[in-house]
Amino acid sequence: MIYLQQLSNPITSYQITAVIDTALCVGAGGSSGSLADKPIVRNSEGNLLIPASQLKGRLRHECEKIARGLHWAVCSSPNPQTMCPQRAGLTENFQRTQYQVSGYESQHHCLICQVFGNPVLASRVIFDDLICTENPDNLPEVLRPGVTINRRRHIAEEQKLYFLETSPANAQIKFTGHIHLSGAPIYAGALILAGLRHIHALGGSKSAGLGWLHWEFPELPLEQGAWDFLAKGGE
Ligand SMILES: [Zn+2]
Repeated sequence: MIYLQQLSNPITSYQITAVIDTALCVGAGGSSGSLADKPIVRNSEGNLLIPASQLKGRLRHECEKIARGLHWAVCSSPNPQTMCPQRAGLTENFQRTQYQVSGYESQHHCLICQVFGNPVLASRVIFDDLICTENPDNLPEVLRPGVTINRRRHIAEEQKLYFLETSPANAQIKFTGHIHLSGAPIYAGALILAGLRHIHALGGSKSAGLGWLHWEFPELPLEQGAWDFLAKGGE
């Protein structure tokens, strides 16, 4: 658990909103799989939400692809052994000045780790869960939760809550929250915005996940210096 008030750098928060373009489809979320497999869950107040871990994991993956495309060496997440600073088996050039982080002089951390963190380095970006702005009472009743009935014991199985799909198409249901940056490197805003542009859907598969979505982008800092920095990958 990361407590915002314990971070030494000032925190700047930016609103981010996912707008669901297609039918909101929450069928796969209930009884099996890890949290990361579930594109959507409910909090204790009954609000639908997209877990922060789901968004962060997906965004990290997209940012890794972008950084590699710009010829930066990137470690291999999410296995700690193949992530910075260990990087077991990785042979690319990580011994770059841009991979040095103050306070960690003997190590190198790739651009992605410097933003999203690793077992050694704290994440410089923190995500909220994105909460559905629609009052759950106003959502179509097809989103009503159901429970799995154990036929042998004739009781509802407590851990097997599931949700029936789906909302009407084009309802433009919104999920909103904040991204918090604290001590992030200069290129973080540019990289995160570029990564978000590659996320057109959330969830394991389009049919079992959230469906197609677009973003109301956070107003992250975008300085010319960010692009100049990112362009140096091939040097
Ligand atoms: Zn790394």
